[in-house]
Amino acid sequence: MSIQRTTSIPPIVEHPRITVIGSGYLGATHAICMASLGYEVLGVDVDEEKIAALSAGTVPFFEPGLPEQLVEALDSGRLSFTTDFDEAAAFGDVHFVCVGTPQAEGSHAADLSYVDAAFEALAARITRKALIVGKSTVPIGTAARLTALVAETSPLGDELEVAWNPEFLREGFAVQDTLHPDRLVFGVASEWAERQLSAAFRPILDDGTPLIVADLATAELVKVAANSFLATKISYINAMAEVCEATGADVNLLATALSHDDRIGGRFLKPGLGFGGGCLPKDIRAFTHRAEELGVGQAVAFLREVDDINNRRRLRIVDLIRELAGGDLAGKRIAALGAAFKPNSDDVRDAPALDVARMLYLEGAEVRVYDPEANANAHRAYPDLEYVDSMTEAVTGADVVALLTEWDEFRQADPAELGRLVASRRVVDGRHALDADAYRAAGWEFRALGRPAQPETVALVVDLKDRSEALSA
Ligand code: NAD
Repeated sequence: MSIQRTTSIPPIVEHPRITVIGSGYLGATHAICMASLGYEVLGVDVDEEKIAALSAGTVPFFEPGLPEQLVEALDSGRLSFTTDFDEAAAFGDVHFVCVGTPQAEGSHAADLSYVDAAFEALAARITRKALIVGKSTVPIGTAARLTALVAETSPLGDELEVAWNPEFLREGFAVQDTLHPDRLVFGVASEWAERQLSAAFRPILDDGTPLIVADLATAELVKVAANSFLATKISYINAMAEVCEATGADVNLLATALSHDDRIGGRFLKPGLGFGGGCLPKDIRAFTHRAEELGVGQAVAFLREVDDINNRRRLRIVDLIRELAGGDLAGKRIAALGAAFKPNSDDVRDAPALDVARMLYLEGAEVRVYDPEANANAHRAYPDLEYVDSMTEAVTGADVVALLTEWDEFRQADPAELGRLVASRRVVDGRHALDADAYRAAGWEFRALGRPAQPETVALVVDLKDRSEALSA
């Protein structure tokens, strides 16, 4: 679908009132940040508890900096929350849809029922010219389908327009990424939509943020293509880790050497336990599924391998932990450090750390999980595991310590002090986040994915600090 250029463009609302439908990790952040940019914003969700928490000034998930922004935005009087779609339809000039698009039950496809429900609810109620903007990550073709759905459902017919504005925020950096994005992508079907959407992002555009205006399909594709690329880069270095494991080579040194080539770059070239979370795994699967539907499955068939490499890392770290535990996990006490899919988040959706803890438990290990922020979510996902409130509790009496999520608290722990707490000084670093030399010097048996059990004589001197900076995502 191409952008319609006409001579008479309907007037836009220069300072639009904004609704944000769906108040989860993406939606709550977007609503709060838009209010902090000076817009009047109404956040909407079907979850009454979430709306009550946000209205009372509590962010119902962990995101650094967001609680302070929420309180400020509520105090400004520009931000409120509701579960009432009639109120939302009457309030907004621009409606952002930020509901979930999880992997469908028993399939690799995305479950679009929440997106459809949100668009339908708005379309049935909106009675003046307005723009509905999808921000959720969706398969290509969804925006075109929703455009038809809205035209059918809305009393305004095609007066009510649909646009797509994919979101690239990273949990842990969500506020910064929302207020200062690398780029904005507008998928629009008319010049009016482009202008109305620009008005909704005026301060960010005035800040010099690059804007890419595209058709709806390209805008949808940008997001899944970006996530596929990032997932591929992670799985690429993890595939190299598999080769390293078979040859005695060291994947950390390999990644460092590769990262000095500007064409390759060090970001996302970080070997370890691989990716997880509520985006990358389900996005690459949904992309593969959609490409097959479109008859171009072969073009992205490699993403299945990317997914498989990623999942093999989880099995491989269990092998390493079992090996260190003497070949059998039954009855062994394992400290599982981390549950969130990455540090500075409490998100445990498809979290490698939690998956590993569960596999260890299923082999009969006594697993003690500690995550600085994600224990509660992890407990909801896997109530059978034992969760403790501190790193000290987790490691005390442990036969093996497994670092699964690279929180600073774990990176900064003193190996000598930890050594006094454990039953045996054995550690598996699933994230290449610990100083192997310092651990070995403190008497630990140290193992990491893709690195030899015993390091070769260090002819290659690599400054650890430089290395972790070069590789950090
Ligand atoms: P989430 O599960 O945290 O939030 C989704 C919210 O939508 C929930 O609060 C749910 O109650 C609400 N909801 C469901 N149906 C609704 C309806 N009909 N009306 C109103 N609210 C409804 O999910 P998330 O992580 O915020 O992800 C949302 C979308 O954003 C997904 O498509 C995801 O792929 C995409 N995305 C997420 C991130 C991220 O870092 N989390 C980044 C970029 C894009």
